[in-house]
Amino acid sequence: MQGLFMTELTHLPIAKVALDVPLHRLFDYIVPTEGPIPQEGMRVRVSFGAHTKIGFIAGCSAQSDVPAHKLKPLMAILDEIPCISADILRLCCWAANYYHAPLGAVLAGALPARLRQGHALPEIKSDGVINTIQPLLGVGHELNHEQKVAVDHIVAALGQFRTFALDGITGSGKTEVYLQAIAIALQQDLQVLVLVPEIGLTPQMIARFTDRFAVPIVLLHSRLTEKQRLAHWLLAAEGSAHIVIGTRSSVWAVMPRLGLIIVDESHDGSYKQQDGVHYSARDVAVQRAYQNNIPVVLGSATHSLDTLYNVSEDRFTALFLHERAGKAKLGCFKVLDIRNERLQEGICTRLIKEIAKRMEKGEQSLLFLNRRGFSPILICHHCAWVAPCPHCDSYMTLHLSPERLHCHHCNTVQNKPRVCLSCNSDVLMPVGLGTERIEAVLKKAFPTTEILRIDKDTTRKKGSMEAYLQAIHDERYLILIGTQMLAKGHHFSNVTLVGIIDADSGLFSSEFRATEHLAQLIVQVAGRAGRAEKSGEIWIQTRNPEHPLLTTLLEKGYHAFAEGVLADRKQAQLPPYTYMAIIRVQGSKAEPLQAILTAAKQRIATEHSSTVRCLGPAPSPMEKRDKVYHYQLLLWSYQRAHLHEALAQLTQFFSTAKSARTLRWSVDVDPYDTF
Ligand code: ADP
Ligand code: ZN
Ligand code: ZN
Repeated sequence: MQGLFMTELTHLPIAKVALDVPLHRLFDYIVPTEGPIPQEGMRVRVSFGAHTKIGFIAGCSAQSDVPAHKLKPLMAILDEIPCISADILRLCCWAANYYHAPLGAVLAGALPARLRQGHALPEIKSDGVINTIQPLLGVGHELNHEQKVAVDHIVAALGQFRTFALDGITGSGKTEVYLQAIAIALQQDLQVLVLVPEIGLTPQMIARFTDRFAVPIVLLHSRLTEKQRLAHWLLAAEGSAHIVIGTRSSVWAVMPRLGLIIVDESHDGSYKQQDGVHYSARDVAVQRAYQNNIPVVLGSATHSLDTLYNVSEDRFTALFLHERAGKAKLGCFKVLDIRNERLQEGICTRLIKEIAKRMEKGEQSLLFLNRRGFSPILICHHCAWVAPCPHCDSYMTLHLSPERLHCHHCNTVQNKPRVCLSCNSDVLMPVGLGTERIEAVLKKAFPTTEILRIDKDTTRKKGSMEAYLQAIHDERYLILIGTQMLAKGHHFSNVTLVGIIDADSGLFSSEFRATEHLAQLIVQVAGRAGRAEKSGEIWIQTRNPEHPLLTTLLEKGYHAFAEGVLADRKQAQLPPYTYMAIIRVQGSKAEPLQAILTAAKQRIATEHSSTVRCLGPAPSPMEKRDKVYHYQLLLWSYQRAHLHEALAQLTQFFSTAKSARTLRWSVDVDPYDTF
């Protein structure tokens, strides 16, 4: 890692230390006159209150504002060389600023857990590398015209900052474009970072990388053991891993010769961290590319509206793949108007007939519903009592195998009551649909067929997802049922029917991004079907077949849909035309939460009334979760700079307000949802 150090600091007496604590400032410590000179990015051990903590040197200075007798010395400097490179430190400083998070929290999240906990930087071993260097290199396909244009643009931008939005449906050849652009970057001895939404779901993609390249490749994701993760991180940091494929947090991986970043399925919600520092790995990747002066490629079949807006503003360059590489066709859509239809527990008879037709031909059907369990509520037929969660403002979901009530928000599990707890009636009915219920209906309809259900409940065991995916490819199951997990990144060539059980919940949601997410899901799921020679059909169950957004999507495609939604957003003054942030607070009582948010709002009203608007304070969509109350204040502005000024002031307020000490608070800039 020798190449990455900051210029050495001279022996200044005060170290500015970033700590992972909810205070938005650095902390001063005395540098011992004996011993090593601290450098930016080195880890230190310090005493903080009654505890010792691991922190990071963010700088040194000649003096401190803290009175000398209150200053404590650094207990130890843990690194001989900085553990965070200069460019990552700079990126973390940007993120701390942009997301209004403590620098120490951003830095801690950027490192593997073992380094965060203060373990020594170990010797680097190469056993985490997938490939060893061998002369043989797999050859790529001959590119079609559009692919060639895309690769040429990306390669021409090596060494400068450009953001590309690579746009093409599943199977259009995006991965082939990545691979051939990466091949050129590797020839220039550059490192490449490839971000993917979830690694367990992309074994085929990883296989293509390892088949193609004779360079060391490492994976970085949460399913690794901490030891493996550290080893892989080190290989990237010392530069011996030429390609890093990883999930969200690998956007912070130290890579001294980084020359190209790819963000695959860049619209995917898993790039947004929803707790701790609320960052978007996609946006951090673009910022990293900017700071390092390198190109970044955002790939998707269904770009987020933010990305499409950036394309329309000429900030990003669009690259299109219209022709489908290979022989695959995109399936065609069928809308199933289920108004007045006979439903068998939520599935209409017509859909069951269609599944039967596919079965006769030995083809697979995939049914999609983004709700696990049997039914979302259990209701008393007599008095309408619904089994509530004791800890949340929510109801218990009924599960059948094993038969239990679950709260999906706090994981409380209860036995299913035999009688109504309000009127003692023994007629308790499940209402609404979950994946288990779909499975039960189809088992009844097709008693001799094996059905595979894939959701969080059936894939808890490590490796089970991989085994199921293999079983699908081996065509051991003709009927597949799944949640969102099954919608991502898989290519099932024998699936010729996709059923979307419930489109209406996405069409009518209070979340302003809900329609965007529904459209992305429909197109993604459609991409699962009809690969290879067989074309597929996508059947969508809805009570709103004439909904304009749905018809635009199905008749004119995602881009026309996106244009329509963007026009609506402009009209309604919603992002990306305005800038939004949410301040969330949690605590054991509701009143103090409301009080502090009201105080925060008053501050904005006095100083930013003309530039920043506030909505709230209001209870979060689910006010009580896991015994804790949640309140929020929504801020928005026509200008990003104004929003950030207000946020900076509010984080100062929360950092210093006495009443904030007993509650948890967080800032979510560019929220993915308003939950
Ligand atoms: P995407 O990443 O957009 O889903 P892929 O790059 O995986 O698309 O391409 C889909 C399939 O077509 C893959 O099997 C790939 O090997 C093949 N393919 C990609 N580009 C070409 C090409 N130019 N000629 C022939 N086959 C191709
Ligand atoms: Zn009752
Ligand atoms: Zn609960």
